[in-house]
Amino acid sequence: MSEPVALITGGTRGIGAAVAQALAERGFSLALCGVRAPDEVQAILTELSHTVSQIRYFQCDVGDSRQRKRLVDDVSKRFGRIDTLINNAGIAPAERVDILQATEESFSTVLRVNLQGPYFLTQQVARRMLEQEIGSVPPCVINITSVSAFAASLNRGEYCISKAGLSMASRLWALRLAPCGISVFEIQPGIIRTDMTKEVADKYDRLIEQGLVPEGRWGRPEDVGRVAAAMAAGELPYATGQILIVDGGMTIPRL
Ligand code: NAP
Repeated sequence: MSEPVALITGGTRGIGAAVAQALAERGFSLALCGVRAPDEVQAILTELSHTVSQIRYFQCDVGDSRQRKRLVDDVSKRFGRIDTLINNAGIAPAERVDILQATEESFSTVLRVNLQGPYFLTQQVARRMLEQEIGSVPPCVINITSVSAFAASLNRGEYCISKAGLSMASRLWALRLAPCGISVFEIQPGIIRTDMTKEVADKYDRLIEQGLVPEGRWGRPEDVGRVAAAMAAGELPYATGQILIVDGGMTIPRL
């Protein structure tokens, strides 16, 4: 049986790169996409190529319907199949602004990338999965949402809404694809140290110091990577639709 193939959106930095590394260690071939030009991601591709036998980068804005279609066509042509889709690419609002002031433009941009993109990419990839024979791992889709899917932040409402929407999309696709043998999982990370949280790192350093996270530290991209790899390798059987919160206990209700 040939190596399983994973398509990871936003797979060249932060959480996506850690997921790529964890899947490479499990023997997956990797199709990674992002918005940066290929020469800007060469360093991480070279690093990953020490572990993985086949890796290819595709420049694609997941919020653009035509680019998504081309991505799936190109990945299918290059690798012949897709066993695992990781919808990881995502953006924060360009500015954190109170919902009384936030703009429709920011709302559209964030919803397009964080919700419309992964929802319709799942549709396209699922159609391909249905046409192929089962490979060496059970087919699955993993959506990286956030604790913001249920925890409200008044200065980034559009982000919270996009993640809550993707959480519902995870349930919808889990239900639709379960009879076809395709599992759909959701990971809700807490505060993870990446480029996305760079600008607010001081604030979170302080809050973690004050006890916000019971495990007492920032999340690492690798924490999410290891959870995603277990899901992709089929280690959570009979559990489609499940959500795994990776936040060091931050959102456990407390008295
Ligand atoms: P990051 O370091 O900013 O990386 C984001 C990745 O998404 C990059 O690889 C980027 O591509 C890609 N991307 C952005 N817009 C895209 C688009 N339109 N089309 C294709 N790719 C696009 O962020 P991160 O912290 O690793 O976040 C990854 C995911 O985890 C996101 O969905 C985020 O919402 C979620 N999350 C993060 C945290 C956290 O604390 N960091 C917490 C909860 C959830 P380029 O590299 O080409 O720019």
